[in-house]
Amino acid sequence: MSPRCHTVGRLAREVEVLCEVDVVVAGGGAAGVAAAVCAARAGASVVLLERNGFLGGTMTSTSLGGVCGLYSLIDGAPVQMVHGFAEEVRGRLEHAGGSRGALPWLQTASLPYDLFIMKSVLDDLAEAPRLTVLYQARLVEAGVEGGRIRHVIVRGRGGLFAIRANAFIDCTGDGELADMAGAATEYDQASLQFPTAMFRMGGVDTTVAMKVPRDEMHRLLEQAVADGYDLPRTAGGIYSVRDGIVHLNITKVKVEGHTPDTFDPFELSEAEREGRRQARLYLEIFRRYVPGYANAYILDTGAELGIRETRRIVGPHVLTSDDVLKERKFDDAIAANCWPIEDHGGGRSTRWVWLSPGGYNHIPYRALLPIGVRNLLVAGRCLSSTHEAQAAVRVTANCFSTGQAAGLAAVMAGSGDMASVDIKPLQAVLKASGVSLTPMPKKAHA
Ligand SMILES: Cc1cc2nc3c(=O)[nH]c(=O)nc-3n(C[C@H](O)[C@H](O)[C@H](O)COP(=O)(O)OP(=O)(O)OC[C@H]3O[C@@H](n4cnc5c(N)ncnc54)[C@H](O)[C@@H]3O)c2cc1C
Repeated sequence: MSPRCHTVGRLAREVEVLCEVDVVVAGGGAAGVAAAVCAARAGASVVLLERNGFLGGTMTSTSLGGVCGLYSLIDGAPVQMVHGFAEEVRGRLEHAGGSRGALPWLQTASLPYDLFIMKSVLDDLAEAPRLTVLYQARLVEAGVEGGRIRHVIVRGRGGLFAIRANAFIDCTGDGELADMAGAATEYDQASLQFPTAMFRMGGVDTTVAMKVPRDEMHRLLEQAVADGYDLPRTAGGIYSVRDGIVHLNITKVKVEGHTPDTFDPFELSEAEREGRRQARLYLEIFRRYVPGYANAYILDTGAELGIRETRRIVGPHVLTSDDVLKERKFDDAIAANCWPIEDHGGGRSTRWVWLSPGGYNHIPYRALLPIGVRNLLVAGRCLSSTHEAQAAVRVTANCFSTGQAAGLAAVMAGSGDMASVDIKPLQAVLKASGVSLTPMPKKAHA
């Protein structure tokens, strides 16, 4: 095969318009579900496009250990900082038996969850009046006129169709719609965080395994490296919501020694294979070195590689590490982030830079506004931020928050420009929906 030696033309052809709605949300991850449900509840007709057959994005396709960004750790106790739509998800998870409550670790805490129950909770939330979820529906093109998106072209299982709308929200995680529509974006492959192939092990004696402290596990894995095993990572997260089963966030996928370019079809495919190869390697190591894993087996791997960072939009405000670490507040705040900078760079450990206990920075509305497309907002991990700030604001609780804000703002914008949404009324609607932009820490649910 001789890759990339030609280009070919594409045939223009007529595409049926399936429907016309107020708001189209592209991508049904944490941000997209929040955006679509909140826009529909606020009175808009909404179509949510999701390329998979289920909602949740990285949360359910890659599978995470837990929801991060909900809590701050104060005097060793988790206190909940983020509410609104994120709290609704947390409450429903707990009610359905899908979570064992906040789990403190290092200087923070997260909410481990059951994968299937998370999918079900999101299904239930998406049963909102005026909201239509289209599964296995992949956004492939945007029709833009006069700086506004007029329609999107979608590939379903049976072929192409179009959807027209007044307002659009890009929650693809990769800023796909923003890019298609010609908005300013950034993709610096050299600085991207490394991906991780998530997997679960069964056959684990969790009564023993879950008592191994994080630093002891790190020591044991470093011992394996000293014994000659080529482990890319020796510090990671292990969670359990079911006896006998653990979820591991421990691999670090490199291709030819560098961060894979996941927009390159060859490198992405190699990275998917490498992730599964590493899962097998870690199984061998855990069986041999870590107490509780002698009879472990791999139960499953995520449906796709866990990709932390790709394209980000460049908005009127680019959130920086200074904004995060100096816990900066903004007049046009739409969300509060309490998660530290968590950078999965080149070494065998993760780099953490912490906020103060109970501290938070604001995410401004301007970080959701793409430049150059008037009726588009962007929420979730591809909002306008630097690489470093993205390493904090990308976690799930923040994606719920920015999605919620984008959904409500899109309804307020109607057929006008997203940039002209009045911030004070938006903040008032957020407050009425349970969002706190000045969170007063209160004790987490046990
Ligand atoms: C390995 C890894 C571990 C992580 N660990 C944690 C953790 O423990 N806790 C935590 O809170 N966060 C964690 N994160 C971060 C967090 O999971 C993500 O940043 C967050 O879930 C992103 O949500 P999102 O909605 O912005 O995007 P995504 O989750 O990426 O969702 C985007 C959605 O859009 C869909 N989509 C994309 N393109 C199209 C298209 N063209 N047409 C239709 N649909 C499309 C996708 O299928 C997906 O459902 C982790 C991330 C990774 C990769």
